[in-house]
Amino acid sequence: MEKKGILIVISGFAGAGKGTVVNRLREKYEGYALSISMTSRNPRPGDVEGKNYFFVTREKFEKTIAENGLLEYAEYCGNYYGTPKAYVEEQLEKGNNVILEIEIQGATNIKKAFPESLLIFITPPSAAELEKRLRGRGTETEEQIGKRLGRAAEESAGMDTYDYIVVNDEVEKCVDEIHSIIDIAHREPVRMKTFISELQDQLKVYK
Ligand code: 5GP
Repeated sequence: MEKKGILIVISGFAGAGKGTVVNRLREKYEGYALSISMTSRNPRPGDVEGKNYFFVTREKFEKTIAENGLLEYAEYCGNYYGTPKAYVEEQLEKGNNVILEIEIQGATNIKKAFPESLLIFITPPSAAELEKRLRGRGTETEEQIGKRLGRAAEESAGMDTYDYIVVNDEVEKCVDEIHSIIDIAHREPVRMKTFISELQDQLKVYK
């Protein structure tokens, strides 16, 4: 059976736990590649160059845009974030599902350019829980937390543009749900064109 990777966008409010969920998904199941974004924001404590992001200057980022090196990009809280094109194309070609952990403007642009991509939104069960997780992380100032909660309020308006909403109440459950969504998506006829036409050919003899 053909094995073409699916381009998967995972979004969610900052503090929704998407990082943890995506890491666990890749640990638990095979066939997932994670795209590492390029950003002009400063590294936070614990951020590792080339693992969390490729950290660059605004100038370098703008040069990459001009060279058409990004699949999509957006500005979020005053910084640029974008998806390097080459890695995604290479992994999809290899048959891996490629995960883009990006915000909503980027997600919308990806869906426009790649209608067969799968958009998944991860959310905590409530706003109070979101605030609790964001504070618990302890990596941002009060001002940054306020900015991110404000941004969450704005982003919630776009939740209905996603293909699936997954509530992250318990990590393992959330990971399994996301994996089954993707597993089932592989069975959509649009992704099984080669298999369908081969089978149709084989069946011709019975006509
Ligand atoms: P953070 O600064 O917390 O690492 O990321 C801020 C937001 O930018 C998150 O919602 C994250 O998903 C999003 N983001 C990270 N990389 C990209 C990217 O390549 N493109 C877009 N559009 N958003 C991104």
